[in-house]
Amino acid sequence: MLEINNLHATVAGKPILNGLSLTVPAGEVHAIMGPNGAGKSTLSYVLGGRPGYEVTGGTVTFIGEDLLAQEPHERAAAGLFLGFQYPVEIPGVSSMQFIRESLNAQRRARGQADLSGAEFIRLARAEAAELGMDVDMLKRPVNVGFSGGEKKRAEMVQMGIMRPRFAVLDETDSGLDIDALRVVGAEINRIMRGPDRAALLITHYQRLLDYVQPDRVHVLAAGRIVRSGGPELALELEREGYAEVA
Ligand code: ADP
Ligand code: MG
Ligand code: MG
Repeated sequence: MLEINNLHATVAGKPILNGLSLTVPAGEVHAIMGPNGAGKSTLSYVLGGRPGYEVTGGTVTFIGEDLLAQEPHERAAAGLFLGFQYPVEIPGVSSMQFIRESLNAQRRARGQADLSGAEFIRLARAEAAELGMDVDMLKRPVNVGFSGGEKKRAEMVQMGIMRPRFAVLDETDSGLDIDALRVVGAEINRIMRGPDRAALLITHYQRLLDYVQPDRVHVLAAGRIVRSGGPELALELEREGYAEVA
């Protein structure tokens, strides 16, 4: 599904990713953990194609295609979804409009017809219900006035509607209380678990991984994967800290 080989990237001329290699096969969920400033969010931005994040070496193959040669919207149309550590607020655009336009743009890119307004509302209502969210929340401007936890849950509704092939979820657990964590964990399993899907969970804490059992856990430090292991590695990190383990 995703194969990153010796990736180097700079931000504002500063090297942040320094030879990062990582393979995530279809059907698997991997976790990336690591200290603050290691480059975890930078990795997700580079995968998404965010301007200002310059790739200076290495390759990324996504479902057999050269990801780095694609524009951000082409990456999304190919099935890549990013959940942001700090979701942006977009005053003047409702979540409904935003998600519907994103979905229909992807459908067009795949040669499918737009969903009608009624079909979209039905889908949005069903996905919001899975998150225990009132669909009326999505009539408000994107993330404006949402609490941290509401932003994360709104992203999960968006993911449920978009049904990506591959999701990179950057600290989706931050700002969630224990009940919301359980609901969001169940949603990640429901939406992203499957033979032709995969996900990369970026997280500081083991606690999300109690709900979404990763197949592999990787430690990112100073822009490279310095250790990989099974789910037990997350527990070891929680116990020992990054300095000991990495
Ligand atoms: P993490 O998500 O692992 O905490 P980040 O990817 O956010 O780490 O940041 C990695 C490093 O890149 C940090 O040292 C951070 O200060 C730096 N960095 C990130 N974005 C920028 C930017 N826009 N300009 C300059 N430095 C940046
Ligand atoms: Mg950080
Ligand atoms: Mg980060």
